[in-house]
Amino acid sequence: MLNIVIFGAPGSGKGTQSQRIVDKYGLNHISTGDVLRAEIKNGTELGQTAKGYIDQGQLIPDELMIDILASVLDGFRDSKGVIFDGFPRTIAQAEALKKMLAERGQEVSVMIDLDVPEEELMSRLIRRGIDSGRADDNEETIRKRLAVYHSQTAPLIGWFKEENKYHHIEGMGSMEEIAAKIVEAIDSL
Ligand code: AMP
Repeated sequence: MLNIVIFGAPGSGKGTQSQRIVDKYGLNHISTGDVLRAEIKNGTELGQTAKGYIDQGQLIPDELMIDILASVLDGFRDSKGVIFDGFPRTIAQAEALKKMLAERGQEVSVMIDLDVPEEELMSRLIRRGIDSGRADDNEETIRKRLAVYHSQTAPLIGWFKEENKYHHIEGMGSMEEIAAKIVEAIDSL
């Protein structure tokens, strides 16, 4: 069972690279950002709650996010494993994930940290905002999301190092080069 956490700041390429890993290894994919955006699109109560946080560049509260993740995970049957994209984003979420997987006799196989310099993240996200029209890809919200990443999410680097699950990848370069490095990390597990 391969349980891969793909980690990195907003704009580091988690979504793009996740898709490649999913295709290559036949894993299930959970992008918590995509789950929330689908809820918003469908006009659900959860979507309305989530929108308030997303538009402010803030994280959805842990308890809510953990419940959402558990229900998505429960929906997977005969899974070869899961790629977790955008989750965990806080230490509390990482601890909840560890517990959830342990209850299923599993664990995280590796956490892959896509490390991209700040100026590059900024320009990628601004470009993405123009191309995709994603409401939270505007300069003000991007700055808030990067600040939230540094204060609440980056501490997970130390947490996963303690767990001996941490794998650093230089996130600059072509999509193919980065994908090759990820595949190498997974194949060496
Ligand atoms: P993403 O598409 O992963 O960049 O997520 C977009 C937004 O959804 C984030 O800025 C958060 O507001 C929210 N979000 C996604 N995943 C999480 C999570 N694991 N915990 C809290 N908020 C999240």
